Amino acid sequence: MRTGLYPGTFDPITLGHDDIIRRGAKLVDRLVIGVAINRDKGPLFPVEERIALVEAEVAGIAADTGTTIEVRAFDNLLVQFAEEVGASIIIRGLRAVADFEYEFQMVGMNRTLSENIEMVFLMAGAQYQPIASKLVKEIARMGGDVSKFVSPEVAAALKRRFAEA
Ligand code: ADP
Repeated sequence: MRTGLYPGTFDPITLGHDDIIRRGAKLVDRLVIGVAINRDKGPLFPVEERIALVEAEVAGIAADTGTTIEVRAFDNLLVQFAEEVGASIIIRGLRAVADFEYEFQMVGMNRTLSENIEMVFLMAGAQYQPIASKLVKEIARMGGDVSKFVSPEVAAALKRRFAEA
């Protein structure tokens, strides 16, 4: 049984993430989505809410693909977490050139830390490639329409969040 790990901040999950999850689910029998608790990013949503939003979204993907999908928070080193969940591949999404430099470094460093895990990079479908959580949050903060970029549940969560603020 092949397990893959798709790690990220998912603050919040977008249709770009969904597309990568759908593609990644075809490559493995079990997909663990690792929601990074914090890092230095100062996330808009607490980890419990980010996880709940991811869980709501992946239920349909698990049903469609037959892949077991688990969503878990993590706060340790990526390769350690990958070993903990028994993953042999780490899946990351690539957007244009912006992600490349960082991911290139990550591969090099993770390889030094663990020989047993391969990193796999997937590209989203053309219409999802420009979507980034950061821009979605900026649009929502200013009252713009994010319905083309996130699910209705996430759009509602963003609305609530900024109404509270
Ligand atoms: P991180 O802080 O780890 O970059 P993100 O939640 O921003 O967390 O992204 C998680 C992963 O999903 C990353 O590999 C990122 O490149 C990928 N990703 C996010 N949005 C897209 C998209 N629109 N197309 C392809 N990959 C994406």
